[in-house]
Amino acid sequence: MEPGEIIVLEEGKEPVSVRFADGHEQLCVFELIYFGRPDSYMLGRNLYESRRRMGVALAREAPVAADLVMPVPDTGAPAAAGYAEGSGLPYREGMVRNRYSGRTFIQPSQAMRQRGVTVKLSPLREVVAGKRLIVVDDSIVRGTTTRQIVALLRKAGATEVHLRVSSPPIHHPCFYGIDTQIETELIASTNSVEQIREFVGADSLSYLSIGGVLEALDLPYDRFCFACFDGRYPVPVPYDTARHKFVLEDADGEPVSLGEVKGAAENPHENPHE
Ligand code: SF4
Repeated sequence: MEPGEIIVLEEGKEPVSVRFADGHEQLCVFELIYFGRPDSYMLGRNLYESRRRMGVALAREAPVAADLVMPVPDTGAPAAAGYAEGSGLPYREGMVRNRYSGRTFIQPSQAMRQRGVTVKLSPLREVVAGKRLIVVDDSIVRGTTTRQIVALLRKAGATEVHLRVSSPPIHHPCFYGIDTQIETELIASTNSVEQIREFVGADSLSYLSIGGVLEALDLPYDRFCFACFDGRYPVPVPYDTARHKFVLEDADGEPVSLGEVKGAAENPHENPHE
């Protein structure tokens, strides 16, 4: 199968190939930032190395005086290692993860997610007490987990908590199968960076730019989908805020019109961030 192709299989019929987009492949950049296994390769890039390089770029884009750099376990680790390398500051593990509890984003309710983080992560008082911390994470979705992490670190004696995120703010939902949240649940869709900083309780907050991601990957913009960051959906999506994002039929059971398109880029292959 090619990018942009659907194969329809029906009993007793020959398979039919349908094209819903041109064959230009644009890989989900979140695969490289977060989803993919660090030991895997995409577009010729090892994902651990790519994330470490995002951390180096982040240290250059958003430096701050501090005593040590630590990751949000476990996914923030490669970028934190890169940030430490780029800044020349020591790298420490200031939190440990309980391996036996589930990932918070698959837990259904907000209350359960909030309980989840306190069970899942414990600060190492010996590492963080009396220290100015740079805490590196790969993304912020709702902000509630981050807020709890900042509170846990302060409770363990951290004097300053500077949050650094190795991806740009997530402003838009994904319509291509990645379960980011609907727009109203994405903290960056309705809040400025300063408002998010205030919500999570950090002393400072910075995100890596799209340019920084591309620099770390050393690949052009048109190889990727960046839509949840910049709203330029490579394949137009039907949009109706009254509908759930996975509902593709209207109230009468008719397919929704593709006429209503949100954020569809005129030329999605061009990098507007250059
Ligand atoms: S919208 Fe975001 S999560 Fe979805 S495919 Fe594009 S980059 Fe990936």
